[in-house]
Amino acid sequence: MPITTLVDSHCHLDFEIFDADRDQVLQRAQENHIHHIVIPGTERTHWPRISKLCSRYKQLHPCYGLHPYWVSHHDEKDIEALDAYIENNRTIAVGECGLDFRDGQADKKTQLSFFEAQLNIANDHHLPVVIHSVKATETVIQSVKKFSHLNGMIHSYSGSAEQARQLIDLGFYISVGGSITYDNARTITSVVKTMPLTSLLLETDSPDQPDHKNQGKRNEPAYLINTLDTIATLRDISPSDIAEQTTDNARTLFSID
Ligand SMILES: [Zn+2]
Repeated sequence: MPITTLVDSHCHLDFEIFDADRDQVLQRAQENHIHHIVIPGTERTHWPRISKLCSRYKQLHPCYGLHPYWVSHHDEKDIEALDAYIENNRTIAVGECGLDFRDGQADKKTQLSFFEAQLNIANDHHLPVVIHSVKATETVIQSVKKFSHLNGMIHSYSGSAEQARQLIDLGFYISVGGSITYDNARTITSVVKTMPLTSLLLETDSPDQPDHKNQGKRNEPAYLINTLDTIATLRDISPSDIAEQTTDNARTLFSID
């Protein structure tokens, strides 16, 4: 069976690194069946750029949020602004928001305050939430449990199989990118081997996190195929079946036609 449609559920195509050849990047995505691309928001000053891009290209779908990596760029007033921006612009999800507990990141308390404020906005607007979680899965689980109507995705999932099970029970999808194509990717491999495919999403996280074949290069949506192939081999299911299921999952979560 040929692959019909794929969704890149997390791709920063708005970043300047794509300014010179964005049309060609999208052309290659199209040739590789990637017909929908979800663009997460990172900081307030970038939202209008994402909005403009997504009106120009119908295959791009906008999210708006405040990324934990750029906490020093955010202001408390950006939360109110986010609420208003979502009210007035087509939005498929709130995010990218979350927690990054690696050394050198902003203090946990500040991150947590921006994160939970955005969960609250998603909860109020009945929108899914796009979560960035690095070394923070346990805290993310505790935070999302505080809200009754939340669902969403954990992008570039790096937690354990048990934590994935808890997140799936809470209504979350597990999104997997190029990291699974590396030989040493034991944890995410064990998660993907056993988790229900009805909760799986595929992403590239372009321009970051290229797969093994494209190591060292700028990542782009067309490379999603390599992650798909790795997962199909792991699960012993055809790539077209994985494509169909993950596309259904993305359409359901993000209400994409
Ligand atoms: Zn991201």
